[in-house]
Amino acid sequence: MTPHEPVTGSPAPGSPAPGSPAPPAGTRQDPRDVVILGSGCAGLTAAVYAARANLRPLLVNGHETGGQLGLTTEVENFPGFPAGIMGPELIEHIRKQAARFGTEYLAGSATAADLAERPFRLTIDDKHHLFTRTLIIASGASARLLGIESEKRLLGHGLSTCATCDGFFFRDRELLVVGGGDSAMEEGNFLTKFARKVTIVHRREALRASKIMQDRAMRNPKIEFVLDTAVVEVLGKDKVEGVKLKNVKSGAVSERKVDGVFVAIGHVPNTRIFQGKIDMDQAGYIKTREGSRTNVPGVFAAGDCQDHVYRQAITAAGSGCMAAIDAERFLESQGH
Ligand code: NAP
Repeated sequence: MTPHEPVTGSPAPGSPAPGSPAPPAGTRQDPRDVVILGSGCAGLTAAVYAARANLRPLLVNGHETGGQLGLTTEVENFPGFPAGIMGPELIEHIRKQAARFGTEYLAGSATAADLAERPFRLTIDDKHHLFTRTLIIASGASARLLGIESEKRLLGHGLSTCATCDGFFFRDRELLVVGGGDSAMEEGNFLTKFARKVTIVHRREALRASKIMQDRAMRNPKIEFVLDTAVVEVLGKDKVEGVKLKNVKSGAVSERKVDGVFVAIGHVPNTRIFQGKIDMDQAGYIKTREGSRTNVPGVFAAGDCQDHVYRQAITAAGSGCMAAIDAERFLESQGH
């Protein structure tokens, strides 16, 4: 394998002046100071801070550029935007902000990692090696989807994976939540603040959610449960207009008119390549302590890959900032 190819993306206004020293090559002999995995809110905020600390970070985009904000429409709860902002636009702003101070972007994903010694070795797209003194993992968690064709088409057009982000847009509407876990109960309850009615559809008779969360949802007069039922299609061309349901016991198929569908069937942290190399919980979320530190010195984690509780753009951004500061202090402590 060869060292990675030149980095994509042209220097933005404010990047190091022409004639300033070339950035580290990312080879074993000339490693990067900081490599950031992930281009969502956490990774990009880490890049802003690391770049402003003159660390010339290299950010590897990953397979979902922009992370979950890249998939959403309007964001109204990110401080600083009184009129709201579209998710992809917010991401583009932070990307430019990080580029302005010298962040470089690399298209591709990390497909393997060797963290046994420093500099750490990353493999990009199974092709190139990249060496770095510190690593910030901000690879996020992807919302699990049902895997039906209509779902992808309608994501952001009435189909959502985040009630906190999108519930507000469904004032006085009829909504459907898919799932039987705590997230589905929580999202169902939350959505009744806005919606006229919420139907929770679960594929089994028994809910997986904790008793207290089930009880709260069952006591809510705006929530109806439809059990033993799968969503087999989301209906609507440009926006959600209804769903096709199938009773898994009787096989009976029915249609139901709804204005929005919230898929709440869990998240999968994008941490597979670090399994067995970094401490994680059973679900694969990276364990952090004292800020963003992992159990491997020099490796830090930020955003949804280490947070299954808050999962907000602003908390991801905050933890990205922490990771960059922690990486900077680590490098200092190592005499770099
Ligand atoms: P979860 O506990 O894994 O539940 C996922 C639910 O989605 C299950 O009911 C599952 O059905 C269903 N599901 C999975 N794949 C599906 C598919 N392809 N089609 C239809 N249904 C599908 O996930 P979660 O609810 O996101 O919770 C994750 C963790 O966060 C849990 O530990 C939870 O306790 C915690 N959490 C806590 C709170 C809180 O305490 N406030 C809030 C949210 C989450 P089956 O039951 O049939 O497997």
